[in-house]
Amino acid sequence: MAYELSAEQEALRDQIRQMALEKVAPRAAEIDREGEYPWDMQKLLAENGLLGLAIPEEYGGSGAPLLDNCIVAEELARACATTSLIFVVQKLAAYPIVLAGSDETKQKYLPPLARGEKLASFCLTEAEAGSDAGATRTTATETPEGFVLNGEKCFITNGGLAEVYSTFAMTEPDLGIRGISVFVVGKGYPGFSVGKIEDKMGLRGAQVSEIIFTDCLVPRENLMGERGSGFITAMKTLDNSRPLVGSQALGIAQGALDVAVDWARERKQFGNPIGKLQGIQFMLADMKTKVEAARQLIYRAATLCDIEHPDVSIYSAMSKMFASDVAMSVTTDALQVLGGYGYMRDQPLERMMRDAKVTQIYEGTNQVQRVVIARRLLGKL
Ligand SMILES: Cc1cc2nc3c(=O)[nH]c(=O)nc-3n(C[C@H](O)[C@H](O)[C@H](O)COP(=O)(O)OP(=O)(O)OC[C@H]3O[C@@H](n4cnc5c(N)ncnc54)[C@H](O)[C@@H]3O)c2cc1C
Repeated sequence: MAYELSAEQEALRDQIRQMALEKVAPRAAEIDREGEYPWDMQKLLAENGLLGLAIPEEYGGSGAPLLDNCIVAEELARACATTSLIFVVQKLAAYPIVLAGSDETKQKYLPPLARGEKLASFCLTEAEAGSDAGATRTTATETPEGFVLNGEKCFITNGGLAEVYSTFAMTEPDLGIRGISVFVVGKGYPGFSVGKIEDKMGLRGAQVSEIIFTDCLVPRENLMGERGSGFITAMKTLDNSRPLVGSQALGIAQGALDVAVDWARERKQFGNPIGKLQGIQFMLADMKTKVEAARQLIYRAATLCDIEHPDVSIYSAMSKMFASDVAMSVTTDALQVLGGYGYMRDQPLERMMRDAKVTQIYEGTNQVQRVVIARRLLGKL
């Protein structure tokens, strides 16, 4: 199986690369410095139809394969990781609706997300339920009026900015992961509120917050899929999103490598460009090899997702884990190529290094990815 892009995919990559170069890259440092959500970037993605790329055509999107989405995430992240996160999270949060929503729910919620008129959030993590989603404490109690949600979510990307929340809550608290259900919750519902907004190391333009449900009444029809099927929906969603996080990491790594190569050509020490030093050449060669290996693994994982192959989970986990580890090591080494200049905020590498770190953490830490991979490898022991 070859992992070459088709002519259409190459055209898509070139188009997004050009757009990112002209419109996204010039904003990246400012977005990082200001730490404000970049609505201009959100608008840019919406106007170019990118926020609906993954949403099926019958619900107003383009229904593009995951591989196309990966290409877009990489090219955006190469210029600005915060902007790529706008793209990645819209798909992540819409996907439970695509997977488990009724036709009515899809008709109601997906078209405005596809057009980028509304943002969405994926609302799973809690203070006591990070890697261990089975420890979810948020409850959804059925009443004659609908489901009443109580609990607190944390670290929710787009928290407070999004209008639509794919929210995981326990309908049967005694059943662990088999008691989790998923609901679509609107920002305006009574009992919905936004808690602490986090001050983060990287992705400074993204808004990440607590979301609090206090007797929050959710209409019965907002339950997506069967009661108790929420954990499976969450895992399927993550399987389908982790290659995108991998692509975000890959884009950051590629962006860092671009800067390091340019610097190695230009920077002179001992009378010559530092690129003439074998020590620098070897670092660049290792970085390039890691970036290309990550890209191939992502293309493979995305292709398997697109054909609903049974090995999706392991490839998805491997692609996210490998690419994010590559992003951390490549940004660190690229910064080293720039020496002291790399450490300064005039250069983009310290931002890229900070942005890379979270790709090893969210959508399941890389330790959790290793657990997923090893379980698939070993089977039941
Ligand atoms: C910027 C940012 C944005 C986020 N956005 C979202 C979002 O939009 N929606 C959402 O639901 N969540 C979001 N998250 C939450 C993220 O998915 C969690 O932080 C992540 O899953 C880890 O959970 P935790 O932070 O509670 O760490 P913990 O689960 O407490 O883990 C702590 C450490 O223990 C290790 N560990 C845990 N379990 C195991 C194990 N079984 N084997 C080996 N090691 C293990 C972990 O790898 C980690 O090193 C976001 C997080 C960040 C930082």
